[in-house]
Amino acid sequence: MAKVHNWQLGREMDYPYEGRRPEKQFAMIFDTNKCIACQTCTVACKTTWTTGRGQEYMYWNNVETKPYGYYPLGWDVTILDRLGVQEMDGPVYRGKTLFDAAPTGEIILGYLPEDIDYAHPNIGEDDSTGLMPQGAHLTLPHLQWMFYLPRICNHCTYPACLSACPRQSIYKRPEDGIVLLDQSRCRGYRECVRGCPYKKVYFNAQTRVSEKCIGCYPAVEGGRQTQCTITCIGKIRIQGFLNAPDKVDEDNPLDYLVHVKKIAQPLYPQFGLEPNTYYIPPIHVPAVYLRQMFGWGAERATDMYRQVAMDRKLLGALTLLGATPEIAHYFRVDGDSVIGYDAKESEIARVPLTEPVVIRELYDPKYRAFRTNIT
Ligand code: SF4
Ligand code: SF4
Repeated sequence: MAKVHNWQLGREMDYPYEGRRPEKQFAMIFDTNKCIACQTCTVACKTTWTTGRGQEYMYWNNVETKPYGYYPLGWDVTILDRLGVQEMDGPVYRGKTLFDAAPTGEIILGYLPEDIDYAHPNIGEDDSTGLMPQGAHLTLPHLQWMFYLPRICNHCTYPACLSACPRQSIYKRPEDGIVLLDQSRCRGYRECVRGCPYKKVYFNAQTRVSEKCIGCYPAVEGGRQTQCTITCIGKIRIQGFLNAPDKVDEDNPLDYLVHVKKIAQPLYPQFGLEPNTYYIPPIHVPAVYLRQMFGWGAERATDMYRQVAMDRKLLGALTLLGATPEIAHYFRVDGDSVIGYDAKESEIARVPLTEPVVIRELYDPKYRAFRTNIT
């Protein structure tokens, strides 16, 4: 095992390979407060990449309702339970990672889901944490809660799938950190499926090899964001690149949200993979749940989100979500607008921070009708 630095854990950890952190890392941020579970992202991904034989059950992108929705069934609670106590001491994680907890002779603590666990991709959708007594939705605070969690492969800095593969079929691209699977090398041992705690590698029973999210690399290489991002109805996503933690650029929207403001948090950082999809946690969910799911900074992130109107730069970065199909490498707030720039510093998006209000006439002579809503 090599010693690598995992900034999400605030410490070094053991990993089977030397760390090769790319200069810029493919990354995505989701604002869970805005997701409406329309599943447009799921369908966009499915129709783009997984319509072949043996791919019927594959959802490289899925959206599940937490706490009771899962795909595959129980993916997170199963591995959390096996990992045991997860000791967090402020910004330093003191507990075991999945690599630390590996049984003797194995590389990582994992498990292989049963086929039946993939039978219900939308299980638990819209289920809240308890029964609502009549009229309870009118009282505050709400005792019951749920929220939508969109998920893709995290293109982890220390991928479990890569380390578990006995054929070295999985590799991480040095130019952008996208994790890919070379199907010509794969022999279908499914060690990657067993190893990935997020269960984002899928075995194709027709071709007898594994498959996973490719980070829409043909689009990304051309400067466009992924399909699931540009089709998102709720404008909850932004995809771009994170710089290495010692080379943070405040003008890069992803660096700003993840490293500078720390409002976007990783999913289950305690697993030790340094996942590269980040979440702005839902503000209405109990902190104890959010801390386990998004790490020690989750509560601070929700406090910051509540105050976002006071912070123009933060508001600007968040307004860039869903503002352009192109990848924003830089951004700046200019007066009442946020401007996004591509890698060559050309303007690709300009969005007002305050939505303009247009007041229309009560009576519309064109349609000879009165309007019920004039703003
Ligand atoms: S989320 Fe899973 S499949 Fe994706 S890179 Fe990480 S370990 Fe591999
Ligand atoms: S398209 Fe956007 S809003 Fe709709 S489910 Fe996907 S992430 Fe949520």
